[in-house]
Amino acid sequence: MMGQQAKGQQLKMFYQGLSLERRVRPDHPLRQVKKLVDFDFIYQEVAHCYGVNGNVSVPPPVILKLMLLLVFYNVRSERELMATLPERLDWLWFLEFDLDDEIPGHSVLSKARRRWGPAAFQHFFERIVWQCVAAGLVDGSKIFMDSSLIAADASKNSILNLNSLKSQLNPHYQELEARLEELPADDQGKGRLNKTRVSTTDPEASLVSQGKVRSQLSFKVHRAVDSHSEVITATQVTSGAVNEGHLLPDLVDQHTDNTRRRAEVVVADSQYGTIRNYLACHDRGLKAHISPFKDGRNRNGRFSDEAFSYDPEDDVYFCPGGQRLKRTRYDRNRETFQYQGKAKICQACALKDKCTGAKRGRTLNRHLRQEEVRLMRDRAQSCRSKQDLRTRQHLMERSFARSVPLGLKRARWRGLWRVQIQEYLTAAIQNIMILVRYIKEPGAAISLAMKQAKGKWQKLQAFFGSVSTLWGYHYP
Ligand code: SF4
Repeated sequence: MMGQQAKGQQLKMFYQGLSLERRVRPDHPLRQVKKLVDFDFIYQEVAHCYGVNGNVSVPPPVILKLMLLLVFYNVRSERELMATLPERLDWLWFLEFDLDDEIPGHSVLSKARRRWGPAAFQHFFERIVWQCVAAGLVDGSKIFMDSSLIAADASKNSILNLNSLKSQLNPHYQELEARLEELPADDQGKGRLNKTRVSTTDPEASLVSQGKVRSQLSFKVHRAVDSHSEVITATQVTSGAVNEGHLLPDLVDQHTDNTRRRAEVVVADSQYGTIRNYLACHDRGLKAHISPFKDGRNRNGRFSDEAFSYDPEDDVYFCPGGQRLKRTRYDRNRETFQYQGKAKICQACALKDKCTGAKRGRTLNRHLRQEEVRLMRDRAQSCRSKQDLRTRQHLMERSFARSVPLGLKRARWRGLWRVQIQEYLTAAIQNIMILVRYIKEPGAAISLAMKQAKGKWQKLQAFFGSVSTLWGYHYP
């Protein structure tokens, strides 16, 4: 028999025996997040930001949870988050609020961000990474790297040309100049497309175009992802125009600090394949599975540098035509020696069309540590390296694709440090989701933790450390 809903029935004014705990389903993702993540650490982390007198603040764990909800559910604004909060029983339960508790004002979040700074969120991200390590989800020996642009929260209409008189008469100009001076010395001018065109809304964003995407004000997110369970172990945000290749050493060091495991292999695309990066990997004892950087020079079928043979005894190169190219000068910035033959011989050479179009003849550059560079480049051509590069493509794309539903396509706030906070929260949530998956399938992680451990005692520790994440988490 079909049921009929009674019309005009007045809803109950009071409810007895109502429990939020019972209203949230057992497999709700927030239930697992609450079980896995310790938010109380933030009390100690931000204690120095609060005085001993005055108004009582919203408890820091509540603020951190609100920020997490904001990103996790990709809520458009903090105002909307607070407006929706009383209607969401699961959010209230997650925040440990009662149905009739007062909802904080939306400004508590922006005030807390300013007061805490990015360090608190960085620590939160690092704790989650360590939790993944303790659960046996991080192998640590092989890391993949890549970067992705995210649109800044600023319109192109806000761009001013600092050199034009019209811009200098703009009322925002003085304000912009003051803000630019406030930036750290390292960041001034770094990363912007040029030093003359700056956004008045977000001076730290830079105008970048990528592929078919038209130029837009952007930031760039750089990530290192571990090979085992795709845990993000290191992350950094820069202005959009910063070359990703410059971030490799920082990400490797961050990975080591966060996971307390030494990386052995770094996998990255040709943007990272610079001499500086090969040498940085060599000095750290890392294998660089990185395609060599394509410098964009079109040789039009002319002889490559490999066609010239080097004689270490006489320190000269021999060209395919048999001429000796002698060392001529040293470039201190690039740490390279230049080698050059005689212009007269090149002009008369039958192979000239295949070798050079320059009137002064062919020149070659040799790095101060050329042998080490060659060794690293040769290793980068191995079968294992090519296989890793293929894996990198879809692994890194997946990592950034998973951040899109969390709103990382566009900066939520303005200013580099705020975008960095957004990325710490996004990366932490992605790692938490991996932990949640682990709870459902613990077998693989426990077996990896056991495999990594050496000796009986370590194996025992690894087993209990891994299993303990099912019940709770203890940061060392
Ligand atoms: S052009 Fe000059 S450097 Fe090139 S093959 Fe001829 S002689 Fe050698």
